[in-house]
Amino acid sequence: MTPPRLGSTVPLVPPLYQSSVYTIPDLNALDRIYSNEEPGFIYARDAHPNAHELAATLTRLEAGSWGLVCGSGMAALTASLLALVRSGDRILASRWLYGRSNQLLKQELARFGVQSAFVDADDLDQVRSALQTPTRVMLIETMSNPLCRLIDIEAVARLCEQSDTYLIVDNTFATPVLVKPLELGADLVVESLTKMMGGHGDVTLGVACGRDGDLLPQITQIMSIWGLASNPFDCWLTLRGLCTLELRMQAATTNAAALADWLATQPGVSRVVYPGRPDHPDHELARRLLPRGYGNMLCFELAGGRDAVNRFMRQARGVPFSPSLGSTQTTVSYPAGTSHRYDSPAERKRQTITDGLIRLSVGVEDLSTIQAEMARGLS
Ligand SMILES: *Cc1c(COP(=O)(O)O)cnc(C)c1O
Repeated sequence: MTPPRLGSTVPLVPPLYQSSVYTIPDLNALDRIYSNEEPGFIYARDAHPNAHELAATLTRLEAGSWGLVCGSGMAALTASLLALVRSGDRILASRWLYGRSNQLLKQELARFGVQSAFVDADDLDQVRSALQTPTRVMLIETMSNPLCRLIDIEAVARLCEQSDTYLIVDNTFATPVLVKPLELGADLVVESLTKMMGGHGDVTLGVACGRDGDLLPQITQIMSIWGLASNPFDCWLTLRGLCTLELRMQAATTNAAALADWLATQPGVSRVVYPGRPDHPDHELARRLLPRGYGNMLCFELAGGRDAVNRFMRQARGVPFSPSLGSTQTTVSYPAGTSHRYDSPAERKRQTITDGLIRLSVGVEDLSTIQAEMARGLS
């Protein structure tokens, strides 16, 4: 097929290259592409233009020196860890990890002789003492699910640097709009683009961005060999989503702050958890770490427990129960039944994830629309 003749014109919006393989004019061109003398693509699992363009945009957004887009947030984290660890290495991680990340360490990497230890990463003394044992990688999340507990990234980064440990920050909940972990000393930032960054609930993708360029060739190879690559259409949609990331985060953050304060005045609501509120345990740190706003995630607890949650879900149809986050639309999730379903009741109790706790991913709708729907659920 001959491509259409565009002359000197260029499409304003980047085209979608929905092709799994590329044609190469001859063997000399093939050699030049392989040796990076000439740009070009060969096979989409190794690299493709839409992932390339998305990665370049994300690298700027994260203030990194390179970025790699993978098929999901988990694929980006897996590729990052596989690039860094080998059998016998130790990983130190926060106790508040995303469920699948937790399983990746405890269940999967453990099978290959990579051991993981867990700490309360908000307790710097615990981190310092755990880092006395040689540790290859430390993994933390900027903001925990669902209670939005925060970690002082800068302080942890300093400790990691002193002990020659590579720091990876999963910044999915905060996004680079609120905080850029690479500027605070993290070596690598990983995000699920499936959530706020894609932002419309229609893609599954992830990204890893770093400062140290040495890792890029290896992590790219791992992505291809282990089959963790992205698909062009999701990259194309995500690049479009990123055009409004700043606006969406601002709108959702403003909505979330107002909703948190409003919920705290509603009868039947026994607790509101939002880092922007002075009663949040990490409010002081939040003011320092998140000067641009406290994000779109909040939790509230219904005094009536599980039955009250069921009634809320049946009545508030406009804020659907949907166990993900970060769409334009406000959605609710139920940590005790989804993300923390397989934790023991004692562990849930320790984390104060009660049967009445609802997690809200606040969207960009008009505030009065969300409030009216929430009021219906609470009535
Ligand atoms: C969703 C999520 C992931 C995994 O991302 P996927 O795109 O679903 O693979 C990782 N970390 C956090 C904090 C998440 O919320």
